[in-house]
Amino acid sequence: MIYLDNAATTRIDDRVFDAMVPYLRDEYGNPGAMYSIGRHSKSAIERAREQVAAYINCKPEQVIFTSCGTEANNIAIKYGASIASAYGYIITSEIEHDSVERAVDRSGVKVKRISQTGKNFVSVDDFVDVLDNTNSPIERLFVSIMHTNNETGIKNDIEQIAGVCRSRGITIHSDCVQGLYTGVNVSDLDLASFSSHKIHGPKGIGCLYARNPEKLSPVIIGGEHQEFGLSGGTENVAGIVGFGKACEIAMTENKSNNNILHERSSDFLREIDATFQSLGISDALHINSDGKIINITISGVDAETMILMLDSVGICVSAGSACRTNEMHHSKVLLKMGLSEEDAMSSLRISFSKYNTNSDCVVAANRIAEFSARLLKERS
Ligand code: PLP
Repeated sequence: MIYLDNAATTRIDDRVFDAMVPYLRDEYGNPGAMYSIGRHSKSAIERAREQVAAYINCKPEQVIFTSCGTEANNIAIKYGASIASAYGYIITSEIEHDSVERAVDRSGVKVKRISQTGKNFVSVDDFVDVLDNTNSPIERLFVSIMHTNNETGIKNDIEQIAGVCRSRGITIHSDCVQGLYTGVNVSDLDLASFSSHKIHGPKGIGCLYARNPEKLSPVIIGGEHQEFGLSGGTENVAGIVGFGKACEIAMTENKSNNNILHERSSDFLREIDATFQSLGISDALHINSDGKIINITISGVDAETMILMLDSVGICVSAGSACRTNEMHHSKVLLKMGLSEEDAMSSLRISFSKYNTNSDCVVAANRIAEFSARLLKERS
């Protein structure tokens, strides 16, 4: 199998898996229990909290484990809504993940959405402009802008945006789920969301970084002593241990991972360009982004058909956002980038990890070109 859908989820690292096994088999004590296997679980959680904190550069007590990145985003927006409820605004972008966008929509508070520049990031000038033209007390503003987009991989200049917020005393949250692979420093942020399964950790575990966790309230209500009362439910000890280990590994291998991702995306782009040219169909190919996530449009080729054809030869890629693969509908991000509805339905997302090789890229690019040529011929 050639797996090129790493923005959807990643293969678990063997070292992460090995670190989790004891907590699935022998060390199964409830971390809330007083006896020793309970205390072992509790210490494993605290060790993982330190590992995550070290990777994102904060204090361990500022890391709240959640059941996923979605829950972390929901808690952050709930807090944002409490700030903005009276005469305030949530200021966000047009290309947020649904777990931010829908939470904002349901919050009942006024919202300003910053439109994208052509290449799909939030311009710092536009952001400052929106702040300057928002007639609300500063303490009633809450900003939520994502770090890296999950459909295109394009990064916002979060450091600069956070710097503006800090200098004006505005609370800022960032959905950093897609940014963690290549590293995120939370020091200028008030809140940041993360998810383990995007960095070769297990699914079903995420975390929220909060500068001041005591100001937050949970979206899953229950255990007062579980995750400082901010995420109820018996802790997913093995998941937390796996997330901590994935962060520890990423911290030391981050630089080489970045190089690998860079090489793989260059390999893929070079090969796809060459194969489309050699088949005389290069006019159909449009590259919308590059980096860890590449989005391409093949005009006249239905993305869903292409995904199924690729699947039949053991290649996994996706169309639009992975969280919606069962419903093929236009990607709002691509439409905002200026693609037509037809082109948006002809777009593929290819995303890499440290496990991909040059050969994966060459084989996948050749298959995509070959199938495109076939589908375009059938159409004509
Ligand atoms: N935010 C972004 C940008 C994502 O890409 C995802 C998942 O794809 C999430 C949030 C949600 O993370 P989780 O799957 O852990 O709920």
